[in-house]
Amino acid sequence: MKFWAEADRLKDNLNNLVRGELYSNYSLRPISWFRVGGYAEILFIPKDEQDLRYFLFNKPEGIPITVIGGASNLLIRDHGIPGVVIILGKAFNHIDYIQSEKINCGASVPNKKISNFALKNNLKGFSFLSTIPGTLGGSIKMNAGAYKSEIMDIILNAKFIDTSGNTYTKSISDINYGYRKTDITDEMICLSATLEGSLARKDDIKQEIEQFKNYRNNTQPIRERTGGSTFKNTQNKKAWELIRDAECNNLSVGGAMISQRHYNFIINKGNATAYDIELLGETIITYVEKRTGIKLEWEIKIIGDGPEVLI
Ligand SMILES: Cc1cc2nc3c(=O)[nH]c(=O)nc-3n(C[C@H](O)[C@H](O)[C@H](O)COP(=O)(O)OP(=O)(O)OC[C@H]3O[C@@H](n4cnc5c(N)ncnc54)[C@H](O)[C@@H]3O)c2cc1C
Repeated sequence: MKFWAEADRLKDNLNNLVRGELYSNYSLRPISWFRVGGYAEILFIPKDEQDLRYFLFNKPEGIPITVIGGASNLLIRDHGIPGVVIILGKAFNHIDYIQSEKINCGASVPNKKISNFALKNNLKGFSFLSTIPGTLGGSIKMNAGAYKSEIMDIILNAKFIDTSGNTYTKSISDINYGYRKTDITDEMICLSATLEGSLARKDDIKQEIEQFKNYRNNTQPIRERTGGSTFKNTQNKKAWELIRDAECNNLSVGGAMISQRHYNFIINKGNATAYDIELLGETIITYVEKRTGIKLEWEIKIIGDGPEVLI
């Protein structure tokens, strides 16, 4: 671990001054949807926004900061994440009404909770979130979406804190975004956002949620250890079609295999390492490019340190 000395010093210096939880050498595997990955040198779960600001302002110069939400779109490498990992805890898990069709949500609110809140309050436009794991913060960073909707369709503005502790709000018109990407940098931690829906009949919203859930249950390996769609779809073809066309849909590496329910999902059969998953992904990219001429792009974010993957 590269920053162990600073991490230890950080803990010694700040432990009595920050009010949140501070751990050293914290295993991230149990929180990762893939159930793989190493340790965070330091994990900080701030008590509230003020605590986070204090921490960021007083951290040692140069120590890397990584924010994690539900870890549902992440492949955390086996040697872990150097520096500080921040997880926004309870204080950021709130939903408040602003006006009849506008709500303000903290960044650690699970997507499903937003969809449930919207259903309860007859708000349309949030149903797609019922089937996307993870939190609002991670979903904004990824511009998560499904069923022809994406999170940026319903965001009005988002509040951020930078890694020096300065807060600012960006309206949606100041954020550049596209299919599963935004210009939100790794130095921007989303704290909350204002979302807007429209009023509709509860029964219609309920029916839409049921439809989405049924479709997902029938087409995706949602009960497996996975990171969701591994690669982005391309303009002309879905990633799973390219994997099928390249005839590499039966590949596996160690404990990592391609789901036979949906070829764009890699699953951990139980004993996979992050290295197995990354090597399988890179092998798929190589096969698909050789056979179709199209280079797949990872949708899953790969973070941290680990053995180098060489094809
Ligand atoms: C079974 C399954 C199904 C899925 N289906 C879909 C789908 O239909 N559509 C879809 O788009 N995705 C899907 N995903 C992927 C994933 O659920 C989404 O990308 C989700 O929005 C990620 O949120 P998260 O909180 O888990 O983010 P994480 O995985 O924790 O992080 C993702 C990225 O966001 C950053 N991040 C996290 N929190 C914050 C924050 N507060 N501020 C700034 N950056 C932050 C992280 O640093 C990282 O770069 C699926 C995943 C699984 C496992």
